[in-house]
Amino acid sequence: MADVCAVDLGGTRTRVALVGESGELVARETFPTPASGESGRAVTDAIEAAIRRIAGDRPAAIGVSAAGPLDLGAGAIVSPPNMPYGRVDLVGPLEAAFGIPVLLLNDARAGALGEFVHGAGVGCDHLVYVTISTGIGGGGIAGGRLLVGRSGNAGEIGHITVETRHGLVCGCGYPNHWEGYCSGRNLPRFYAVEKRSGDPAYATAESIFAGARAGEPGAYRFLDAVAVLNGRALSTLMVAYEPERIVLDGAVVQSQADLVVGPAVRRMERYLPLPVVAVSPLGGDAPLLGAAVAARRR
Ligand SMILES: [Zn+2]
Repeated sequence: MADVCAVDLGGTRTRVALVGESGELVARETFPTPASGESGRAVTDAIEAAIRRIAGDRPAAIGVSAAGPLDLGAGAIVSPPNMPYGRVDLVGPLEAAFGIPVLLLNDARAGALGEFVHGAGVGCDHLVYVTISTGIGGGGIAGGRLLVGRSGNAGEIGHITVETRHGLVCGCGYPNHWEGYCSGRNLPRFYAVEKRSGDPAYATAESIFAGARAGEPGAYRFLDAVAVLNGRALSTLMVAYEPERIVLDGAVVQSQADLVVGPAVRRMERYLPLPVVAVSPLGGDAPLLGAAVAARRR
Protein backbone atom coordinates (compact mmCIF):
# COMPACT_ATOMS: atom_id res chain seq x y z
CA MET A 1 0.00 0.00 0.00
CA ALA A 2 1.11 3.54 -0.59
CA ASP A 3 2.00 5.91 2.23
CA VAL A 4 -0.79 6.19 4.78
CA CYS A 5 -1.82 9.18 6.84
CA ALA A 6 -1.44 8.98 10.63
CA VAL A 7 -2.75 11.41 13.23
CA ASP A 8 -1.71 11.55 16.88
CA LEU A 9 -4.16 13.80 18.70
CA GLY A 10 -3.03 14.89 22.15
CA GLY A 11 -4.38 17.35 24.68
CA THR A 12 -1.78 20.00 23.85
CA ARG A 13 -0.45 19.13 20.41
CA THR A 14 -1.52 17.22 17.36
CA ARG A 15 0.79 15.54 14.89
CA VAL A 16 -0.14 14.50 11.38
CA ALA A 17 2.24 12.49 9.22
CA LEU A 18 2.49 10.57 6.01
CA VAL A 19 4.01 7.21 6.91
CA GLY A 20 5.75 4.75 4.59
CA GLU A 21 5.54 0.98 4.81
CA SER A 22 8.65 0.58 6.96
CA GLY A 23 7.60 3.30 9.36
CA GLU A 24 9.48 6.20 7.80
CA LEU A 25 7.84 9.60 8.22
CA VAL A 26 7.67 10.95 4.68
CA ALA A 27 6.13 14.24 5.78
CA ARG A 28 4.97 15.55 9.11
CA GLU A 29 3.31 18.53 10.69
CA THR A 30 2.74 19.45 14.33
CA PHE A 31 0.29 22.07 15.53
CA PRO A 32 -1.26 23.08 18.87
CA THR A 33 -4.51 21.20 19.43
CA PRO A 34 -7.28 23.82 19.17
CA ALA A 35 -8.49 24.77 22.63
CA SER A 36 -11.17 27.30 21.75
CA GLY A 37 -14.13 27.39 19.41
CA GLU A 38 -17.74 26.41 19.83
CA SER A 39 -17.27 22.66 19.78
CA GLY A 40 -14.88 19.79 19.20
CA ARG A 41 -15.46 20.39 15.50
CA ALA A 42 -12.59 22.91 15.74
CA VAL A 43 -10.23 20.00 16.41
CA THR A 44 -11.61 17.82 13.62
CA ASP A 45 -11.46 20.71 11.14
CA ALA A 46 -7.81 21.42 12.01
CA ILE A 47 -6.94 17.75 11.49
CA GLU A 48 -8.79 17.63 8.17
CA ALA A 49 -6.90 20.69 6.92
CA ALA A 50 -3.54 19.22 7.98
CA ILE A 51 -4.30 15.92 6.24
CA ARG A 52 -5.11 17.81 3.01
CA ARG A 53 -1.83 19.75 3.24
CA ILE A 54 0.22 16.61 3.80
CA ALA A 55 -1.58 13.88 1.90
CA GLY A 56 -3.81 15.71 -0.57
CA ASP A 57 -7.51 15.06 -1.02
CA ARG A 58 -7.29 11.26 -1.34
CA PRO A 59 -4.96 9.65 1.21
CA ALA A 60 -4.67 5.86 0.88
CA ALA A 61 -5.79 5.31 4.47
CA ILE A 62 -6.17 7.31 7.67
CA GLY A 63 -5.43 6.16 11.22
CA VAL A 64 -6.05 8.35 14.25
CA SER A 65 -4.52 7.81 17.68
CA ALA A 66 -6.14 9.92 20.39
CA ALA A 67 -6.01 10.38 24.15
CA GLY A 68 -9.19 8.94 25.60
CA PRO A 69 -11.73 8.39 26.80
CA LEU A 70 -12.92 7.12 23.44
CA ASP A 71 -16.23 5.78 22.31
CA LEU A 72 -14.98 3.54 19.53
CA GLY A 73 -18.51 2.66 18.41
CA ALA A 74 -19.27 6.33 17.86
CA GLY A 75 -15.77 7.17 16.57
CA ALA A 76 -15.45 10.03 19.04
CA ILE A 77 -13.62 11.33 22.10
CA VAL A 78 -16.13 11.81 24.92
CA SER A 79 -15.70 14.10 27.95
CA PRO A 80 -11.92 14.49 27.57
CA PRO A 81 -10.37 15.76 30.83
CA ASN A 82 -7.76 17.87 29.00
CA MET A 83 -9.82 19.53 26.26
CA PRO A 84 -12.52 22.19 26.67
CA TYR A 85 -15.10 20.22 24.65
CA GLY A 86 -17.69 17.69 25.72
CA ARG A 87 -17.10 15.61 22.62
CA VAL A 88 -14.85 15.46 19.56
CA ASP A 89 -16.30 13.49 16.65
CA LEU A 90 -13.45 12.13 14.54
CA VAL A 91 -14.37 9.12 12.42
CA GLY A 92 -17.67 10.38 10.97
CA PRO A 93 -16.50 13.82 9.80
CA LEU A 94 -13.13 12.55 8.47
CA GLU A 95 -14.76 9.68 6.58
CA ALA A 96 -17.25 12.13 5.08
CA ALA A 97 -14.43 14.51 4.12
CA PHE A 98 -12.15 11.96 2.47
CA GLY A 99 -14.49 9.16 1.41
CA ILE A 100 -12.37 6.38 2.95
CA PRO A 101 -12.62 4.42 6.21
CA VAL A 102 -10.87 6.02 9.19
CA LEU A 103 -9.44 3.88 11.97
CA LEU A 104 -9.50 5.32 15.51
CA LEU A 105 -7.68 3.92 18.53
CA ASN A 106 -6.50 5.03 21.94
CA ASP A 107 -2.99 6.54 21.88
CA ALA A 108 -1.48 4.05 24.33
CA ARG A 109 -2.93 1.09 22.42
CA ALA A 110 -1.52 2.70 19.27
CA GLY A 111 1.85 2.98 21.00
CA ALA A 112 1.83 -0.78 21.66
CA LEU A 113 1.15 -1.43 18.00
CA GLY A 114 3.88 1.01 16.95
CA GLU A 115 6.44 -0.75 19.15
CA PHE A 116 5.28 -4.18 17.98
CA VAL A 117 5.80 -3.39 14.31
CA HIS A 118 8.55 -0.75 14.29
CA GLY A 119 10.11 -0.41 17.75
CA ALA A 120 11.36 -2.36 20.77
CA GLY A 121 8.69 -5.04 20.31
CA VAL A 122 9.76 -6.26 16.89
CA GLY A 123 9.93 -10.07 16.84
CA CYS A 124 8.10 -10.34 20.15
CA ASP A 125 4.52 -11.71 20.31
CA HIS A 126 3.87 -10.87 23.97
CA LEU A 127 4.46 -7.26 24.79
CA VAL A 128 3.26 -4.56 27.16
CA TYR A 129 3.72 -0.90 26.30
CA VAL A 130 3.69 1.64 29.13
CA THR A 131 3.72 5.39 28.73
CA ILE A 132 4.49 7.59 31.75
CA SER A 133 3.79 11.17 30.80
CA THR A 134 1.20 13.68 32.03
CA GLY A 135 -0.84 10.56 32.74
CA ILE A 136 0.00 6.85 32.63
CA GLY A 137 -1.40 4.55 29.95
CA GLY A 138 -0.58 1.30 28.27
CA GLY A 139 -1.41 -1.37 25.80
CA GLY A 140 -0.89 -5.10 25.54
CA ILE A 141 -0.06 -7.40 22.65
CA ALA A 142 -0.80 -11.08 23.32
CA GLY A 143 -0.03 -13.78 20.78
CA GLY A 144 0.67 -11.04 18.23
CA ARG A 145 -2.72 -9.41 18.65
CA LEU A 146 -3.50 -6.03 20.17
CA LEU A 147 -5.77 -6.32 23.21
CA VAL A 148 -8.54 -3.73 22.97
CA GLY A 149 -11.15 -5.00 25.42
CA ARG A 150 -14.89 -4.63 25.22
CA SER A 151 -14.95 -0.99 24.21
CA GLY A 152 -11.30 -0.17 23.53
CA ASN A 153 -10.13 0.40 27.09
CA ALA A 154 -8.04 -2.71 27.82
CA GLY A 155 -4.72 -1.36 29.06
CA GLU A 156 -5.94 1.51 31.26
CA ILE A 157 -3.10 0.50 33.52
CA GLY A 158 -2.66 3.94 35.10
CA HIS A 159 -5.64 2.99 37.23
CA ILE A 160 -4.24 -0.05 38.95
CA THR A 161 -3.83 0.33 42.71
CA VAL A 162 -0.23 0.64 43.89
CA GLU A 163 -0.45 2.31 47.30
CA THR A 164 -2.69 2.54 50.35
CA ARG A 165 -0.94 4.86 52.80
CA HIS A 166 -1.71 8.30 51.42
CA GLY A 167 -5.10 7.94 49.70
CA LEU A 168 -4.21 10.39 46.92
CA VAL A 169 -7.17 10.61 44.55
CA CYS A 170 -6.49 9.98 40.87
CA GLY A 171 -8.02 12.03 38.04
CA CYS A 172 -10.51 9.20 37.56
CA GLY A 173 -11.93 9.85 41.02
CA TYR A 174 -10.59 6.80 42.85
CA PRO A 175 -7.73 6.74 45.36
CA ASN A 176 -4.28 5.13 45.26
CA HIS A 177 -3.90 4.58 41.51
CA TRP A 178 -0.48 4.45 39.82
CA GLU A 179 -1.27 7.54 37.75
CA GLY A 180 -2.38 9.42 40.88
CA TYR A 181 1.18 9.09 42.25
CA CYS A 182 3.73 8.57 39.50
CA SER A 183 2.52 10.45 36.42
CA GLY A 184 4.36 13.65 35.49
CA ARG A 185 1.43 15.70 36.70
CA ASN A 186 1.11 13.94 40.05
CA LEU A 187 4.74 13.40 41.11
CA PRO A 188 4.83 16.78 42.94
CA ARG A 189 1.66 15.83 44.85
CA PHE A 190 3.20 12.50 45.82
CA TYR A 191 6.38 14.31 46.85
CA ALA A 192 4.36 16.68 49.06
CA VAL A 193 2.84 13.79 51.06
CA GLU A 194 6.17 11.92 51.33
CA LYS A 195 8.27 14.97 52.18
CA ARG A 196 9.90 15.23 55.58
CA SER A 197 10.28 18.46 57.47
CA GLY A 198 13.20 20.44 56.11
CA ASP A 199 12.88 19.02 52.60
CA PRO A 200 12.30 21.65 49.91
CA ALA A 201 9.00 21.90 48.06
CA TYR A 202 8.93 21.03 44.37
CA ALA A 203 6.21 22.25 42.04
CA THR A 204 7.03 20.18 38.96
CA ALA A 205 8.29 16.71 38.15
CA GLU A 206 11.25 18.26 36.30
CA SER A 207 12.35 20.16 39.41
CA ILE A 208 12.22 16.97 41.52
CA PHE A 209 14.48 15.13 39.05
CA ALA A 210 16.76 18.15 38.85
CA GLY A 211 16.96 18.19 42.66
CA ALA A 212 17.90 14.52 42.73
CA ARG A 213 20.57 15.09 40.07
CA ALA A 214 21.95 17.94 42.16
CA GLY A 215 22.27 15.54 45.09
CA GLU A 216 19.43 16.96 47.19
CA PRO A 217 18.73 14.12 49.68
CA GLY A 218 14.94 14.64 49.94
CA ALA A 219 14.49 14.42 46.19
CA TYR A 220 16.84 11.45 45.93
CA ARG A 221 15.03 9.53 48.69
CA PHE A 222 11.72 10.35 47.07
CA LEU A 223 12.79 8.74 43.79
CA ASP A 224 13.17 5.47 45.66
CA ALA A 225 9.55 5.79 46.86
CA VAL A 226 8.60 6.33 43.19
CA ALA A 227 10.62 3.27 42.16
CA VAL A 228 8.76 1.16 44.72
CA LEU A 229 5.40 2.10 43.19
CA ASN A 230 6.63 1.78 39.61
CA GLY A 231 8.07 -1.62 40.51
CA ARG A 232 4.74 -2.72 42.00
CA ALA A 233 2.89 -1.67 38.87
CA LEU A 234 5.39 -3.38 36.55
CA SER A 235 5.15 -6.53 38.70
CA THR A 236 1.38 -6.47 38.25
CA LEU A 237 1.77 -6.14 34.48
CA MET A 238 4.26 -9.01 34.49
CA VAL A 239 1.87 -11.44 36.20
CA ALA A 240 -1.21 -10.22 34.31
CA TYR A 241 0.28 -10.44 30.81
CA GLU A 242 3.44 -12.56 31.15
CA PRO A 243 5.12 -10.44 28.45
CA GLU A 244 8.49 -11.11 26.85
CA ARG A 245 9.12 -7.38 26.90
CA ILE A 246 7.81 -4.30 28.65
CA VAL A 247 8.48 -1.17 26.61
CA LEU A 248 8.54 2.10 28.53
CA ASP A 249 7.78 5.41 26.84
CA GLY A 250 6.42 8.87 27.63
CA ALA A 251 8.04 12.16 28.57
CA VAL A 252 8.96 11.13 32.14
CA VAL A 253 10.72 7.98 30.92
CA GLN A 254 12.33 9.55 27.85
CA SER A 255 13.78 12.49 29.77
CA GLN A 256 14.75 10.69 33.01
CA ALA A 257 15.37 7.08 31.93
CA ASP A 258 18.41 6.58 34.16
CA LEU A 259 16.56 7.73 37.29
CA VAL A 260 13.31 5.89 36.51
CA VAL A 261 13.86 2.61 34.66
CA GLY A 262 16.67 0.78 36.46
CA PRO A 263 15.37 1.62 39.96
CA ALA A 264 11.87 0.42 39.02
CA VAL A 265 13.19 -2.86 37.59
CA ARG A 266 15.23 -3.45 40.76
CA ARG A 267 12.00 -3.13 42.75
CA MET A 268 10.09 -5.66 40.60
CA GLU A 269 9.05 -8.93 42.20
CA ARG A 270 10.56 -12.13 40.82
CA TYR A 271 7.54 -14.40 41.00
CA LEU A 272 7.89 -14.97 37.24
CA PRO A 273 11.12 -14.62 35.24
CA LEU A 274 11.66 -10.93 34.57
CA PRO A 275 10.75 -9.76 31.09
CA VAL A 276 13.15 -7.50 29.22
CA VAL A 277 12.31 -3.91 30.18
CA ALA A 278 13.32 -1.52 27.39
CA VAL A 279 12.92 2.18 26.67
CA SER A 280 11.11 2.95 23.42
CA PRO A 281 13.59 3.69 20.62
CA LEU A 282 10.94 5.60 18.63
CA GLY A 283 11.46 9.01 20.26
CA GLY A 284 7.80 9.63 21.06
CA ASP A 285 6.50 8.51 17.66
CA ALA A 286 5.14 5.11 18.76
CA PRO A 287 1.45 6.21 18.84
CA LEU A 288 1.78 7.96 15.48
CA LEU A 289 3.40 4.89 13.90
CA GLY A 290 0.80 2.64 15.54
CA ALA A 291 -2.00 4.69 14.01
CA ALA A 292 -0.39 4.14 10.61
CA VAL A 293 -0.06 0.40 11.25
CA ALA A 294 -3.73 0.16 12.23
CA ALA A 295 -4.81 2.13 9.15
CA ARG A 296 -2.73 -0.05 6.87
CA ARG A 297 -4.11 -3.27 8.35
CA ARG A 298 -7.69 -2.21 8.02
ZN1 LIG B 1 -7.36 6.31 38.35
